[in-house]
Amino acid sequence: MRLVMASANPHKVAEIAELLIEHQIAPRPSGMGSVLETEATLEGNARLKATVVCREANSAAVADDTGLEVDALAGLPGVRSARYAGEDATDAANLVKLLDRMKDVGEADRTARFRTVAIVVFPDGGELVAHGVAEGTICRAPRGDGGFGYDSIFVPDEGHGRTFAQMESAEKHAISHRGRAFRCLAEQLSSFSPVT
Ligand code: IMP
Repeated sequence: MRLVMASANPHKVAEIAELLIEHQIAPRPSGMGSVLETEATLEGNARLKATVVCREANSAAVADDTGLEVDALAGLPGVRSARYAGEDATDAANLVKLLDRMKDVGEADRTARFRTVAIVVFPDGGELVAHGVAEGTICRAPRGDGGFGYDSIFVPDEGHGRTFAQMESAEKHAISHRGRAFRCLAEQLSSFSPVT
């Protein structure tokens, strides 16, 4: 199936293209401004991004929204993960703020999870939705050069003590929130027949 990518984030685009390898992934229409994430939930923001791009491209569009929920911070940054250190915050600024907020938190209380909602919206208004979660802990300083966003401070429970940024992309996909969500979405797409 041909799917237009709602994200312009090159890291996410690369991961999603790897995860939806059986589909033809087209880039987001050039010249489109970014869609403001104004919804209160990951699912709402993912749907918003896919709907706007689907309308603009008049084609099925795929989007995801991801949040890092830190238990010691009552679930923050969560849906605000991209904007944790301010509206136009960089990944580096978000990471510094999170580590600062966690500096007095003991080892046993550093639990967290990445949560992804992946969605395809079709021009007829139909949609497919999938969820993925990766449980882990927040380490005290960044480790590793791979990945993006908060990868260098997140140690997944299934990663043998390494951060996502210390893994090859295939290894991250196998246990990650996005890997899980998009494998579920791919399964739904494989049994889906669009209305013609
Ligand atoms: P969004 O889903 O693009 O809105 O991303 C929300 C925030 O989470 C941004 O700061 C991203 O950099 C970060 N993020 C999204 N996916 C990942 C991931 O797989 N690993 C680490 N950080 C991520």
